[in-house]
Amino acid sequence: MSADFIPYGHQDISDADVQAVVEVLRSDWLTQGPSGPRFESAVAERCGARHGIAVANATAALHLACLALGLGPGGRLWTSPNTFVASANCALYCGADVDFVDIDPGTLNMSADALGEKLVKAEKTGTLPDIVVPVHFAGQPCEMDRIAELSRRYGFAVVEDASHAVGATFRGERVGSGRWSDITVFSFHPVKIMTTAEGGLLLTNRDEVAYRLRLLRSHGISRDQSDIFDKTQGAWYYEQLDLGLNYRLTDLQAVLGLSQLQRLDAFLESRRKIVDRYEDRLSSLPLGLQRQHAAAESAWHLFVVRVLETSGRTRRQVFDALRSADIGVNVHYIPVHLQPYYRRLGFKSGDFPQAERYYSQALSLPIYSGLSGAAQDRVIKQLAAVLGM
Ligand SMILES: *Cc1c(COP(=O)(O)O)cnc(C)c1O
Repeated sequence: MSADFIPYGHQDISDADVQAVVEVLRSDWLTQGPSGPRFESAVAERCGARHGIAVANATAALHLACLALGLGPGGRLWTSPNTFVASANCALYCGADVDFVDIDPGTLNMSADALGEKLVKAEKTGTLPDIVVPVHFAGQPCEMDRIAELSRRYGFAVVEDASHAVGATFRGERVGSGRWSDITVFSFHPVKIMTTAEGGLLLTNRDEVAYRLRLLRSHGISRDQSDIFDKTQGAWYYEQLDLGLNYRLTDLQAVLGLSQLQRLDAFLESRRKIVDRYEDRLSSLPLGLQRQHAAAESAWHLFVVRVLETSGRTRRQVFDALRSADIGVNVHYIPVHLQPYYRRLGFKSGDFPQAERYYSQALSLPIYSGLSGAAQDRVIKQLAAVLGM
């Protein structure tokens, strides 16, 4: 990365973060020690959830969520096409089918209206989903109260893909509290709000779901006397009760997460300031901004704009010009159903027109805690120049 390059996202690691990791590195426990449960409790407490289960990454978390909720062959999962592929792949790992619900062109989240309409049709054909995965795109929570109402009426489970939304709220309720869902998933990849390098975490208020998630995270093995069949054995004894995986988070990562969690409010504040400056300076440019639902408080993982037709420029032209100026703009997201793998499953262009239309204009501008005002002004200046303003 050249010294002048401004990426679209970047981690913020302090000396205290480094020190915390070094201490674990010198301790007896590199993994399965005390930092994992401490991190889980701290995140659960912050979000107001009963259980936190830390895992290797959010992709693993989504897979475990589907397994713990009993998704299998013949099952169905619906998600947004405007997301990273992992939100959909989790169903395929379980041998279930995936379908998508188109987005609201303003908020760019799964449309609760479109979900309602699709459910009416699915009920008639006996193809209701088992799980719906709303994705809090760019950090803005979906309309969770409406989605929860539909879940009660049609009997599906809700897994929030909150990879972008650590620290966000909806109707004053913290994302992760589980008020409107069965499970919430966070990602701690370095470009996200806070990081453990790789890492993810599941939150749930359901005791039996938390039990299954913990079991499946570690090979499906238990040493707990209350679980195992043969209670006559010695202290070496364990039993495999289900087919699980090794999806654990290490203590090195968990302690980094604990340290980063103490800085979460500062991270959110710093992103909020960057957004205010973008909104102020970009208002006169021919760009469309993501509409914010009145009850949603975004965590601002991403700052996305639409390059409007009225600009006389294509998204490609704007993207290439900014990249040539060492500005690491990006595009979120290529609609999942248009990926070659998903086309082979039968999806095609035109299936989800709002997501496709948004994608054709989408551009993500740099946003991260540590982006300086001067760097941000360079982004704004270059953007205005390429738009001829
Ligand atoms: C980053 C991301 C994931 C996957 O997270 P990992 O921790 O990298 O596995 C899943 N869903 C969304 C919406 C994401 O942005």
